Amino acid sequence: MNPVSFIEAKRDGLENPPGEIAEFVQVALSGGMKDYQISSWLMAVFFRGMTASENRSFTEALAGSGKTVSFPEGLYAVDKHSTGGVGDKTTLVVVPLAAACGVPVAKLSGRGLGFTGGTVDKLDSIPGFRSSLDMASFIGQVEKIGCAVSGHSQELAPAEAIFYKLRDVTGTVPCIPLITSSIVSKKVAGGSSAFVFDVKCGSGAFMKDPESAKELARQLVDLSEALGRKAIALITDMSKPLGKWIGNAAEVMEAIDVLRGEGPEDTMELSLLLTGAMIHLGGKASSIEEGAKIAESVLLSGKGLEKFLEMTIAQGGNPEDFLDLTKRRRHLAPSVLEIEAVEEGWVTACDALLVGEVVRSLGGGRLTKEQEIDPSVSCEILAVRGQKVSKGQSLARLYCRKDDPETENAAEMIRRAYLTGDKPGKEKLVLGFEGSEKS
Ligand code: URA
Repeated sequence: MNPVSFIEAKRDGLENPPGEIAEFVQVALSGGMKDYQISSWLMAVFFRGMTASENRSFTEALAGSGKTVSFPEGLYAVDKHSTGGVGDKTTLVVVPLAAACGVPVAKLSGRGLGFTGGTVDKLDSIPGFRSSLDMASFIGQVEKIGCAVSGHSQELAPAEAIFYKLRDVTGTVPCIPLITSSIVSKKVAGGSSAFVFDVKCGSGAFMKDPESAKELARQLVDLSEALGRKAIALITDMSKPLGKWIGNAAEVMEAIDVLRGEGPEDTMELSLLLTGAMIHLGGKASSIEEGAKIAESVLLSGKGLEKFLEMTIAQGGNPEDFLDLTKRRRHLAPSVLEIEAVEEGWVTACDALLVGEVVRSLGGGRLTKEQEIDPSVSCEILAVRGQKVSKGQSLARLYCRKDDPETENAAEMIRRAYLTGDKPGKEKLVLGFEGSEKS
């Protein structure tokens, strides 16, 4: 192929033919394409977009660039993907819960990106937990107990990693068709037959406004369906953190509380809806609502928590300290700082981005790729949006490392994250649905 005319065609708003897209990806994977040529094409896509047919060819080429997970005939696995948020621990709930409802779940997860947390980092806080399963163990565990969560293997969709690395340093990450192909190619390589997407919207998400979140949700569903997978996308609020805890170990504890039926309302509601969508796509309910009702009764029976423990133990983890309320404190950082309200009023905002940045700056997330995460660093939300607070009342509690010089700055950022007003304001968790089988 001639890479220059391929790039020029995209630059001029013409359509790249499927065969050339497949060859471009193949040559990039084999190291035969210059980084500046891949980057130029990415920038042309950033400005010109991709047609549905181009994105389908590009995604197929990425998904097929390495090994693919293949489940035995008749095993219809469902996967779930969140576009990333602050305090989002729903994967830890929905994977075992959907499995306990009879829907096999093969979940491939990522690490935290920027200010957002990642499921693999959360699971790594459980002593002994193996979050990198080889392909045979991953498939075997889904067959045996109905669910598994593993970090993305480098062997799956390796070309995607090449394109993503270049996007990261050329300002081409925030491009809906490229985000869509990046996510869907990895999901397709992961072998599941249906996907539930949770597209986050708000300050603590990549998509800041409802219009772009809706567009991403629509493209994720359309592309998945074009590739023969069933898909549903929920668009959900991420202007405030989800639940009351942010921080890796603390989020595992809160997920256990949800599985006990004792979690915060927003996290319970979202977990049941997502599980409902997975049960619906797995063919065990005729609508998301019916699926959510099944999920609720299974959760209240304790079978979801049982499945979580079975999965944790199967992956080498020891959940004992996280289950026992008297032992949880030892997994939270030692220095505690309370942040108090400076005036009386209704909490109208608790900015997810600022809270996520605080936890990251204290060591609970990464500032560089190499950085080790401290799973014990966390933020406990004590006053939620819509609640009335008096002057001096505690808004949040930070669990920090001893003598961390960042602590004061972090406290100031939490103060800035909170806004109060003279009215409670409106709450809306689910902003929309996309998918051919909307309920
Ligand atoms: N997450 C992904 O997997 N890919 C993107 O492009 C953005 C977020």
